[in-house]
Amino acid sequence: MTPHTTTSVGAEIYALARDIYPICRSITGDGVRQTLQVLKRHAPIKTHEIASGTSVFDWTVPREWIIREAYIAASDGTRVVDFRNHTLHVLNYSAPIRQHMTLAELKPHLHTLPDDPDLIPYRTSYYEERWGFCITQTQKDALPNDTYEVVVDSEFKNGALTWGEYLHQGKSDDEVLLTAHICHPSLANDNCSGLALLTRLCAALCRRSTKLSYRFLFAPGTIGAISWLAQNEHRVDRVKHGLVLSCVGDGGGPIYKQSRRGDAIIDRAMAHVISHSGLPGRVVPFSPYGYDERQFGSPAFDMPVGLFQRSAFGTFREYHTSADNLDFIAPDHLAISYDIVSQAIDILEGNNVFINLNPKCEPQLGRRGLYGTIGGDKDAPKRSMAMLWVLNLSDGNHTLLDIAERADLPFSVIAQAGEKLLSAGLLAEAETPSGRT
Ligand code: ZN
Repeated sequence: MTPHTTTSVGAEIYALARDIYPICRSITGDGVRQTLQVLKRHAPIKTHEIASGTSVFDWTVPREWIIREAYIAASDGTRVVDFRNHTLHVLNYSAPIRQHMTLAELKPHLHTLPDDPDLIPYRTSYYEERWGFCITQTQKDALPNDTYEVVVDSEFKNGALTWGEYLHQGKSDDEVLLTAHICHPSLANDNCSGLALLTRLCAALCRRSTKLSYRFLFAPGTIGAISWLAQNEHRVDRVKHGLVLSCVGDGGGPIYKQSRRGDAIIDRAMAHVISHSGLPGRVVPFSPYGYDERQFGSPAFDMPVGLFQRSAFGTFREYHTSADNLDFIAPDHLAISYDIVSQAIDILEGNNVFINLNPKCEPQLGRRGLYGTIGGDKDAPKRSMAMLWVLNLSDGNHTLLDIAERADLPFSVIAQAGEKLLSAGLLAEAETPSGRT
């Protein structure tokens, strides 16, 4: 698939992912705020906060985690592990510790990947207070018997959970929810890529006049989505379509995971775009595990929100390790991901219903200059077929997406045919049947 967007879009998204990659994010704390500060340079995102201790459905908003320093120093003062070298080195949300201990005492607190001995794992302990470090197995094996100074200079305090949000108001109050998680430290694909792509999309859409309204949400995984839903419960039925973005910077997939409903417009739009992308993509059914689609798809909400990824989380070697770095994502992959999401948005925006004003047999297209007459134009037959399909199915009961699916032609080709026929006076816009677009 050749991205419709220029590769410069991919380069811009990559540059933004690179800018936020070094920040140590967690579910709460300054890492999220700092990340939002960077994103705000590119799009009009607003910061929202909810106080620690607030009840949100079955959960409680956790305290803020402050991390100043974390290291392990040998008896000669050499720092053998230092958080300054990699944000993954400290167990995310680690409790504080400042103590001298033997190697045997230290070892239970060292997390490694024995099967991939040169990668640092990403580990968290949000809901149980413990301290720890994440290092490579090679580093661990090289630690001599010694007395180590172990320091995690962290603190939990009552503060807030932070997220970023922006609503681009369209002509309709019907909303498209686009979201990415903002709680992972230095992991490029999961999910600096999603945050950067979403920010670039926000910057582009807010300059556009749109039919639908677009809500961008940059929230910590799970607890952020739960907090947002708790605060917005009264108005979530405005959300007619939604996408969670994650791992959109590698060269895999593309993979679309359906919303809980399975047959929502967004499910069909993403399946359609992926099937016409020329890439070995696939659509997988909903399951109550993964990213925040599982909160949006909890039974009381059952929102039409799916998940878009390139490689599926948990399936690639780099996932949740130090190998998920800036070499693992690339501008070209980001440009293709951006293009796929943009094409899905084009479908949501342009999924109109028309009525054929000349339904008794085919109208004469040649007389109206609608048949391609220039020889050798290889797309001409496709465009002619698109016109015939649009004319045939524009009985007021079929959306353009219905027609594109049945004709097995890209939505953009069907939509262009619709525009041409509309300006030739052969179609009129129909009242949209409720729930069909
Ligand atoms: Zn993750």
